[in-house]
Amino acid sequence: MTEPLIYELSSPGRCGVLLPELDVPETALPEGLLRDDLDLPEVSEVQVIRHFVKLSTLNYSIDKGFYPLGSCTMKYNPKVNEDAARLPGLAGLHPLVDEQDAQGALAMMYHLQGWLAEIAGFAGCSLQPAAGAQGEFAGLLMIRAYHLDRGDTKRTRILIPNSAHGTNPASVTMAGFEAVELPSDENGDVDLEALRVACDDTVAGMMITVPSTLGLFEVHLPEVIELVHACGGLMYMDGANMNAMMGVLKPGEIGFDVQHYNLHKTFSTPHGGGGPGSGPVAVNEKLLPFLPGPIAGVVEEASGDDEAPLYGWVMPEKSIGRLKAFHGNFGMIIRAFTYIRIHGGTGLKAVSQYAVLNANYLLSQLRDTYTVPHDRFCGHEFVIEGHWKDAPGVHALDISKRLMDYGLHPPTNYFPLIVPEALMIEPTETEPKETLDAFVEVMKTIAREAHEDPELLHSAPHVTPVGRVDEVLAAKQLALCCVPIPDWSARTELKTDLA
Ligand SMILES: *Cc1c(COP(=O)(O)O)cnc(C)c1O
Repeated sequence: MTEPLIYELSSPGRCGVLLPELDVPETALPEGLLRDDLDLPEVSEVQVIRHFVKLSTLNYSIDKGFYPLGSCTMKYNPKVNEDAARLPGLAGLHPLVDEQDAQGALAMMYHLQGWLAEIAGFAGCSLQPAAGAQGEFAGLLMIRAYHLDRGDTKRTRILIPNSAHGTNPASVTMAGFEAVELPSDENGDVDLEALRVACDDTVAGMMITVPSTLGLFEVHLPEVIELVHACGGLMYMDGANMNAMMGVLKPGEIGFDVQHYNLHKTFSTPHGGGGPGSGPVAVNEKLLPFLPGPIAGVVEEASGDDEAPLYGWVMPEKSIGRLKAFHGNFGMIIRAFTYIRIHGGTGLKAVSQYAVLNANYLLSQLRDTYTVPHDRFCGHEFVIEGHWKDAPGVHALDISKRLMDYGLHPPTNYFPLIVPEALMIEPTETEPKETLDAFVEVMKTIAREAHEDPELLHSAPHVTPVGRVDEVLAAKQLALCCVPIPDWSARTELKTDLA
């Protein structure tokens, strides 16, 4: 049975809603506001429900299957976080309510600030930034404010290794600095010679992703930090990859001055599909006065052991200002609070240990089949090359599209840019060994297909409602309305599935 489109189900006069009786005087609409003809489908309630439920099951999500999208930490988000975020006292709290009537929420934010700072070894934290990239922006504005506060106006450059996340140079430019790219050496680490040459008194700081987007822990980190500090720059750590390091390494303790976290990665708040995110920033003593604010603080100490302190909003003394309406993405803050509270210190350490173990297990199973550009112990993710000399014409994109035929979400493609045909794989700690083994099986099958029947890969995916789109055309002629799905009738496997 070919699946009809909602428009094809339309039958004149059929109606899915019962409008209530008119309870106001009837008046004519002004001339020209009513269309004679509006081309909407006329369908019954059950047809509408089935249409949308069917569409919803076509969506891929972490609740449906393995999602090894490198750099994104698509771990499973425990449902208890959702329960907490929906508690009426939290979900219904108005952001303009008086501080004394929001003591619970303020206490929660105060503790989360403290826990995040402690996890990474910093002195203070602001929950304002709405995403990792905004956390980066906040950190850079603080670095600038710090130098200007000391009357040092020549520091206009930020150093960035070429293995950095793409948002890093963008944030640097937005904050008004010049981004200076540093090459990587043959092992994928920062080229120390190039760093030495770049360090001078125009350097405001360095922004480095740890582990890097190659999934590698920078082996020269102590030397890198020392060189940048020696020339008067500050060290920014992109902490979106904290999933590899919790309970193992505290960036603030080894000399970093500022970092951001991605609550929507490491701390299991749901993401994808555009948000919302949360990218708190943490800093050492040097930058504490510059934090974006207001932040949650204790405004009156507890009067006795059984009493709670009074919490309120505090503006850091030399704050770079407010970055977000109200108090950050509060729903994400509740979810991260719940996640950290439930795991505790030992639990978070186990999270990172399993994330790294899972990634290294996958790497060990795939390195004989795929080229690994920097083959060494990896962090929570790793990068392989999606091409073979003896399978010309097969690209990383073909492998990703073919993975969809096997019901799996593809890894990140063509990033980082310094690896040809990059496939960046991040299994996360929440996947059982059975899932990892199944993924390895599929990856090996696809490698075999690439050599024996490359056309199978070029024409993939075969089982999705929409086949391979022309990405250039799709971007130029974006169709956001309900249009007939191309080649639907030719997509035989899906049809059987839905029939
Ligand atoms: C995801 C990510 C970012 C950006 O975070 P957003 O919340 O998407 O803005 C920055 N750096 C790294 C290393 C990341 O993985």
